[in-house]
Formats: sequence, structure tokens, C-alpha cells
Amino acid sequence: MTTKAQSYLTHFRNIGIAAHIDAGKTTTTERILYYTGRTHNIGEVHDGAATMDWMEQERERGITITAAATTAKWKRSGTDQEYVVNIIDTPGHVDFTIEVERSMRVLDGAVAVFDSSQGVEPQSETVWRQADRYGVPRIAFSNKMDKTGASFELVLNDIRERLGAIPAPIQYPMGQESEFKGIIDIVRQRAYTYTNDLGTDIAESDVPAEYADKVTEMRAALIEAAAEVDEDLMMKYLEGEEPSVEELVAAIRKGTIEKKIFPVLCGSALKNKGVQLLLDAVIDYLPSPLEVPAIRGTLEDSEETREFPADPEGKLAGLAFKIMADPYVGRLTFVRIYSGTMQSGSYVYNASKDKRERVGRLLKMHANSREEVTELKAGELGAVIGLKDAGTGNTLIGDGDDHVLLESIDVPEPVIKL
Ligand code: GDP
Repeated sequence: MTTKAQSYLTHFRNIGIAAHIDAGKTTTTERILYYTGRTHNIGEVHDGAATMDWMEQERERGITITAAATTAKWKRSGTDQEYVVNIIDTPGHVDFTIEVERSMRVLDGAVAVFDSSQGVEPQSETVWRQADRYGVPRIAFSNKMDKTGASFELVLNDIRERLGAIPAPIQYPMGQESEFKGIIDIVRQRAYTYTNDLGTDIAESDVPAEYADKVTEMRAALIEAAAEVDEDLMMKYLEGEEPSVEELVAAIRKGTIEKKIFPVLCGSALKNKGVQLLLDAVIDYLPSPLEVPAIRGTLEDSEETREFPADPEGKLAGLAFKIMADPYVGRLTFVRIYSGTMQSGSYVYNASKDKRERVGRLLKMHANSREEVTELKAGELGAVIGLKDAGTGNTLIGDGDDHVLLESIDVPEPVIKL
């Protein structure tokens, strides 16, 4: 049961974006920050050139690239509902495997980005296995559909053969390589067609006749897969009844969270609508903090375990997952709060170091700004200024609470200089 105090969490998604180097993780992330920032941070920008300028500026300032967790807001297309999407940086390079593992602990869902011309590459395979180990629900984005050699079938086959997962394509590309003309949303049976070469202008329509059979066939397969995980849908399916869009989305969501369904999207991060539809899919299919198992901790000097469900009114339980040295404010400790509320100016107990520590200021990092806040609540991520001793993987609990260590990966890591 979700209490009133927890209800904001249904509109939270804490996600990581994982990819083999060059698959398009940076481009996808920047575009996500651009589209989420456009409505909320920097006002309307109309043409493609302004988009690039803004991204170049961001690149120079380095904020989007280096923040360990960036908070963005996204209004799901076709609704008025705003969602908070926290993007947790998952290092793509294989050398950072331990860092990837650490980040897996603080995210609730992930987007795997593949280069459609390369299929599933080795680093993606590594990250996929880590996500398996940490039970992280995933959706996949078959990027670069416009590139020479791009093949959606290749990516779907590789997911089957190299990752041993059953892909559930929820989109289909209209054309591939230089012929790539747009994306069909299989679930909603809508088509998005580019009306200029750059792919900045787009027209929404019903599914074009030439794709009708293919889409019908793919949608039937999707309904069949969804019916496997949802009894109500199965009943309808057996009676030959068509589920509504909402029912189908809910069943795919359930399957994704149970890690039985892996929705696969396709498109190009460089073109319009690719990333917006990806954000919508993050909202539709990846879990909120309330839909993942509660983090557990072990009571000091005993075998007793405690659970910390995502609840701002529960006992404070947070994990420091990245330390950065900022030239202006000094040591920034990135934390995820699982339970309870961390207040600026309060004392917390670092159970990993057996030390009482003072929380100075609290920040939420946005793509182009830092927001000072007075508290970080369950499900939120942000940076703490003022913690002197906290290291990566350290457990932070309430001052005076029972000494509990959260399950984590405790690996020493040097402080990264910004
Ligand atoms: P990362 O290493 O995964 O972060 O990859 P980047 O985002 O830096 O992208 C690598 C290269 O692929 C860059 O030159 C991008 O411009 C290019 N790229 C990214 N997405 C697309 C796409 O959808 N289509 C094409 N043709 N190129 C892309």
C-alpha cells in the first residue's frame, strides 16, 4: 500500500544509461537533458542550431558529462503528468567495471543503448550481465538506425543470442540506413515520419499501409508475450479480445519489472522524436522506487537484517556512491536516499566508518544548474557538501539510529577532480 507521503514516488524514475563506447550514450544523454531542460530550464528553443549551441556550451562546462546524478523533469507525451527522471552516470568503459557495479546499486532501471550497425558489443554484454546480477529492469534502444549497416533485426538477434534474453520490440523503424524515415510505435499504432532530411521535422499519423501487416504481426507477438506475465490479459487473449493500450502498457510494464520482458526501441538519438519516445518508454516501463525490492541492511554485530522501503517518513538510510572534488564547493558526496529524509545542517551517522558527520548543504544537480535544497527525501539523489569522511559505498543513517550497514560494494576509489 502506498501512503500519501510516498505518493510522489510513483512519478520518480532513477535510471542509468549503459552502452558500449561509441554506441551513442553521450548523445542520448545530452538529448535527454536537452529535451527535459527545454521545457523546464532554458525556455523554448525552436531550431536545431540552438540545440547544438546549448549542448556545446554544456560540453564546455562539462556539467552534463561529469555529474554522477542529474535530475531532469519530463512530462509524459499526451499527458499533463510530470515525472522526475534522475539519470545516474554508468561508466561505459570496461575498466570501470567496479564503478558500473556501484552505480547499478543506486539505480532502479536502465536503458541499454546499442549501435544498430554493430549489434550487441562486448561492453554492452558486460554491463548487461551486471544488470542481471543486480536485478535491474531494462529497456533497450537500438540507436543509429540511419547509419550505414544499421539493422534492427541484427540488434534483436544479438539480444537473443548474445544476451540470452527475449526482445520485445515496441517500435519498428520505417526504413533503415539512409532510407530511415521514421518510427512506428507498435503499442499505440502510431507512426512518426520525418518530413525533412535532417529529421528535425516530424509528422504523426496512423500506421502507413505498407507497414500495416508487419505492425499487426508484431503487436500480436507483443500481446502474447504480455499475456504470459499478466493473468487478466491472458484471459482476454484466450477469449480473442483485444486489450486496450493502457492494459497492454501495464502488462508490459509488469513483465519488464519482473525482468521477463525486454522492450526494445529503435531510432536515432540525433533525430527528433527518438529520445522523446525513449523518455516516454522510461516512464511507461521502468519501475518507480516503490516497485523495486526495498534495500536491506545488516545490524551491526549480528545477523539481523532490516529492510528500508522507499518512504520519506521511515528511518534514514542512504548510500554514498561517488565522491567528487569541486573547485568551488570542495568535496561533493553523491548520495541516494532510500528511506527517510536527509536534512541540510543535520547530523547523520556514517555506519561504515563509525563516525558522526555533519551534513552541510544539499544540492540537486540539473543539466545546467545546481539547485540548493533543504532536504533529500527517499528515492531522491543529490550531492552533499560538508561530509568529510564519507567514501563511496558508505552507509549513512540517522544519528542515534540502530547501526545498520546497507548492502553495497565496498571498493576504495580515488577522489575524482572536476
Ligand atoms: P558514446 O561513446 O556511447 O557516448 O557515443 P557518442 O554519443 O559520443 O556517439 C558516438 C558517435 O556516434 C558520435 O560521433 C555521434 O555523433 C554519433 N551518433 C550518435 N547517435 C547517432 C545516430 O543516431 N546516428 C548517427 N549516424 N550517428 C550517431
